[in-house]
Amino acid sequence: MSEVVIVGAGPAGIRAAQTLCAHGLRPVLLDEAPQGGGQVYRQQPPGFTRDAGQLYGFERRKGQALHTALAQLEGQLDYRPDTLVWNAEAPWLDTLSQGREAQRLAFSEVLIATGATDRILPVPGWTLPGVYSLGAAQIALKSQACAIGEQLVLAGSGPLLYLLAWQYAKAGAPPLMVLDSAPLSAQARATPALLAQPATFAKGVYYRAWLGVHGVPVHTGAQLLNVEGDQRVEAVHWQDSRGQAHRVACDALAFGHTLRSETQLADLLGCTFQWSAANRAWLPTRDEGGRASVTGVYLAGDGAGILGADAAELAGELAALSLVSDRGLHVDPTRRHELQQRLGSLERFRQGLERAFPFPEQWAGQASDELVVCRCEQVSAGEIRAAVRQGHWEINRVKATCRIGMGRCQGRLCGAAAAELIACESGRAVDQVGRLRAQAPIKPLPFGVEVKP
Ligand SMILES: Cc1cc2nc3c(=O)[nH]c(=O)nc-3n(C[C@H](O)[C@H](O)[C@H](O)COP(=O)(O)OP(=O)(O)OC[C@H]3O[C@@H](n4cnc5c(N)ncnc54)[C@H](O)[C@@H]3O)c2cc1C
Repeated sequence: MSEVVIVGAGPAGIRAAQTLCAHGLRPVLLDEAPQGGGQVYRQQPPGFTRDAGQLYGFERRKGQALHTALAQLEGQLDYRPDTLVWNAEAPWLDTLSQGREAQRLAFSEVLIATGATDRILPVPGWTLPGVYSLGAAQIALKSQACAIGEQLVLAGSGPLLYLLAWQYAKAGAPPLMVLDSAPLSAQARATPALLAQPATFAKGVYYRAWLGVHGVPVHTGAQLLNVEGDQRVEAVHWQDSRGQAHRVACDALAFGHTLRSETQLADLLGCTFQWSAANRAWLPTRDEGGRASVTGVYLAGDGAGILGADAAELAGELAALSLVSDRGLHVDPTRRHELQQRLGSLERFRQGLERAFPFPEQWAGQASDELVVCRCEQVSAGEIRAAVRQGHWEINRVKATCRIGMGRCQGRLCGAAAAELIACESGRAVDQVGRLRAQAPIKPLPFGVEVKP
């Protein structure tokens, strides 16, 4: 029997499930995480007792509302946590539950709401123990109630940088400093666009001011140079906005430059992709209702372009309404219009964020040849450049030549950095070097998994 399937139980997937159930459908909701909520409303493991305020701060009510929505759907859907979708080939998905039970699941329609991960631009020493992505540092705090270190430096750019600094400080582990690669002038210039969402903008200003008042130094226009250490992180070297170099002793570093969408399932299903300048990434195309280019495939949330948690909830509902209406069922046109309007306003805010936290264009030109870019296959920047000098500039050809993106992460961690290096070395714009094609399994599988049709 073919099912209506949602992949991802974050804000987008849960609101999509709720909408489908409200219209009389009984979807299958798959998520590799053991509990619903996605990245932003990640739940703590059983036995942990911190309240919603400690976990989600200003967003506690939204988080609680989302968890309640999922709980209230019990009996109306087939929710399968701990279930990874590792392959997609219409009309089926390959899943792995609890790390051992493989199943091939036929779908009639699939709504992909797989979210995002950090975008990593490596620096020398980034593979040392004690270095985390910003997202991973937040997961340690939110899910496991652990700080990643006692003397912590946060670096990179984007809203998560400030949110994380505030969350760590509130949890009793204030960072030594925050190094933001975005110049202060860019953030000031972005203010008019950011005022499209005054409440969200105010939260960002609050985090920043709070850090100042509580003695956490924030350096804008600061560049992370390298991580020093023998067995693990011992210090970080960085350069301030005037070009002066500094060294700060620390025992942990978290870094990242905003987020990147998880698009592999849409790719495996044959969806059309388009370059998004705002995301500096190839994204699956969708119409204003969330329909992908392939019939029966719907897209919602950060997995189809980074727009944040509130937008993910709206987009999940909107894509589900499109699915319902494509089945010939009645949907409320006013609600659809309202969702589209609100998403449009969030889109304007997103443009503002892009201006406030611009991509550090100089990164690729400054990366040393010895820098390890792909930690799965130990491919260095120099090897990528050598492949380009052999005449390869299309990213999949470079992958075939030097194995960048061929390891366990399948390019999810190194793909963005590799594209920047290839573009820089070949003298092309980054959208001209092609798109790293997804391959199954999209995430690592244990040996011995048997696909049961
Ligand atoms: C680590 C991290 C931390 C973040 N923290 C915050 C924060 O504190 N505040 C904030 O406003 N924004 C945060 N963001 C951004 C935020 O995640 C999003 O804006 C929001 O959660 C997007 O909702 P979503 O439903 O699109 O995706 P998500 O919330 O990411 O949910 C996607 C879900 O899909 C599941 N999934 C993905 N791939 C598969 C697969 N192949 N098979 C099965 N399941 C799969 C994941 O387990 C996840 O539960 C964070 C992002 C990241 C990456």
